[in-house]
This record gives sequence, structure tokens and C-alpha cells, in this order.
Amino acid sequence: MLAITNARVVTVDANGTVIDNGTIVVDERGVIREIAQGTVAHTATTVIDARGGIVMPGLINAHAHMGMTLFRGLGDDMNLEDFLARLMPAEINILDHDAVVAGTELAALESLLGGITTTLDMYYLPDAAQVVAERSGKRIFSAPNLLESNGPEPLAFDDRMKWSDQWLQEAHDEHKDYLNWLAPHSTYLLGEEHLVQIAELAEKYGAHIHVHASETVGEMKLVANRHNGRTPIQVLADTDLLTEAVLAHGVHLTDEDIELIADHNASVTHCPASNQKLASGTARIIDLHKAGVNVALGTDGPASGNDMDLWLAMRLAGYAQKNTSHDPTVMPALDVLRMATINGAKALHVDHLIGSLEVGKAADIVVLDADSPSLTPVFDPHVAIVAAAGRADVSTVVVNGRVVVRDKRALTINHEQTVQRVRELGSKVMAAVDEVERNRRN
Ligand SMILES: [Zn+2]
Repeated sequence: MLAITNARVVTVDANGTVIDNGTIVVDERGVIREIAQGTVAHTATTVIDARGGIVMPGLINAHAHMGMTLFRGLGDDMNLEDFLARLMPAEINILDHDAVVAGTELAALESLLGGITTTLDMYYLPDAAQVVAERSGKRIFSAPNLLESNGPEPLAFDDRMKWSDQWLQEAHDEHKDYLNWLAPHSTYLLGEEHLVQIAELAEKYGAHIHVHASETVGEMKLVANRHNGRTPIQVLADTDLLTEAVLAHGVHLTDEDIELIADHNASVTHCPASNQKLASGTARIIDLHKAGVNVALGTDGPASGNDMDLWLAMRLAGYAQKNTSHDPTVMPALDVLRMATINGAKALHVDHLIGSLEVGKAADIVVLDADSPSLTPVFDPHVAIVAAAGRADVSTVVVNGRVVVRDKRALTINHEQTVQRVRELGSKVMAAVDEVERNRRN
């Protein structure tokens, strides 16, 4: 059992309730049993004194490529299309199970230290991410990556579909809903026939879809050429992949696209750091909100977003909308915080389990440093979280009742070894990228 005392509890419940000087009691199954003001009688063996600091739900990263930390900083100062042409072949050359474990473990370390307790991942060799999830206690939602090139697995498309079928069967047999996902890369890397096959397989298992959509102007042109003038959203709707899907990016949306997304109850994962860095454009978040679309937040991969920082994503998400609408009243702090927590949980279909601090939900909790200069003073904790807090303020992190970060140190991941392993892979990564560059020039 675990108790967190002297907490300024930012629940992110439906009313945005904040409890000053509260106590949270977590039972042995990792479920929040009580949240109350003042002190509470409990028999917890682990007690964390928040000393008046903010205690909030763990952040949910609703679009990432965790294993891509191996390629961090190698897609800079170029557009998405050049970035993909440079990195995708290099990834395929270098990645095997151990390399993906190493990259994902580094991403898990970075994520947990930065308050991210759940990530919707899209990467090759997804078994590797699950090795890391089990070891570290971090929640990682994984899926077979579906595209027409063979990938590092390596599997041709038909074999990839057979493997996906087995993956979903296992997820079903073992009641692991967080693996009941398929990740078709995008409508520019998949033809209509293949998209239809993926939809049929998803239908068979009730699997959820995680897909890139409408990220750049270049993508819109590629998709229009490949799919008879349609937008990515229209293609997804026509191939039965849009219903309740997670759409990464959703930058270039027509009014009709937004209607389709709302009608199909799909979620958009906004990735403002990646979008701004790649000059992809500014997503129509205010219009999506008006249409009733659930918008979550993501970092994207560490080659396009470079870090796994959802505090930065929160900051950029709010500021970009305020700036482009010339209206500082849009996207108030609590709305932005919801994007990084409960809206992520909704996108992942687990809002009954995580995403807010409420009795009966799993204890995925972040405790912020009570002595942080940037969090002093705190008059409105929602504003403090969105406009002032950062990863360095994350003091303690709990996932499902288990303390995984304490006093800014990871407890379930060996920090030094994890960093060292990725450093050692560096020269191999650089050689693979150089080879791709040489081939492109010739
Ligand atoms: Zn992505």
C-alpha cells in the first residue's frame, strides 16, 4: 500500500477539482482507494510526503516512436519527406530486437523521469517494447507496424498480416487490451487494397487503429496522387479504418475531414513540437474542439520531435493556437492539461482506468518538486503545470501503484547502463545513415 500526503491534488476529473493539502491512498492492487482533504488514517508501508507540492495524473503520450531514440537528432533542419528518405532505410539496416530494446529502454527512462506513465508507441519489432514495459513498469501500448516495405522484421506485407493476426490472437487470449492495436503507417505508404485488408483484420479482433494522417502538404499531395484525389481522412473513412482511430498529427484537415473525424469518433493526437520543427503547419485544434473531437497530445519520434517532453508539447499546443488565432483566451490551461492526460486515455480507450486521479482508477501519479523555483508561487495549479512546469520538476512517479521514480532517480531502469548501451550503438547508427546518404547521391 502507498499513501501520498500533504499533496496539492490536481485531479483532472470532469470538474477540474483541486484538493489542497490532500492525501491519496492506494491499495495493494495499485488502485486509488481514497482521495481526501487533510490527513487520512491508513496502513500504507510506503508514504510519500509531497510537502505541499502538486500531485497530478501521469502524462499520456498518445503518439511516439520510442525505439527511434537511436536516431535522435539525425532528422534535423530538413522536411519530413527528406527525413524519411534518410532515416527509414537506415532504421531497417540497423534494427534488431536488442537494438529496439536499447532504444525503447532509453525512451522509457526519459519518459518516466519526465512524468510520462503511458505511451502509445508505433515502432518496428514491438515485442521489444513489451520487454521494456515489463521490466520498467511503464505502460506501453504496442502494435505491429504495417507498411509495404519489409522493415527490419523482415516480413513482406502478406506475412506481416499473418504475424499481425497472431499478435492480435495472443492479445485477445491473454486479455491484453494494450496490445489489441494495429499501426498502419499511413495512407501514403499503403495502397487501398492493403488498407482494406488491415481494416478486415482489425474488425476480426475489435482492434484499434493508430495511424499517421494529414501531417504535411507533401503528404496531402502524395495521398491525392495515390488515392484518386482524396485526403488521408477520406481514404481512412472509405477503407473502414477511421472509426475510433488515433490519428497522429491531423495538421492539414478540411472542414469535411473534421466532420468525418467527429462522426467516426476518432481522436487526433496533436504533436506540436514535431509539427513546428518540421514546419508541417499548425493543426486546427480549436476547430477540432468545436466539432467535439477528442484531441490528445504526443511527442512523435525522437528524430522528428527529438525529445519525449510532454511539458513542452503542452506549452507549444496552447501557445500556437493563441498566437495563430490572435486570441490569448483560447486553450485555457485546464483544457491543455486534459489533452496530456484524460484525452490521451480516451484516445487509448482506457479513460475508465487512467487519465485522472479518481477513486477506483489506477494510481498513475506524478509528484512535482515542492521547492521548484519555477513552481513558486502557485496560485492556479493548472496554469503552473501548463505554463511553468518542466521535466526537471518531476520528483516522484508512480505507475499502477508502483513507485518507478523517487527523488528524480529511476528505480526500475538502470540509468547508467541504459544510456551507455545506446551510446555504444551510436557508431553503427552513424555508419548506416552515411551509407544511405551515399546511395542517395549515387
Ligand atoms: Zn510519427
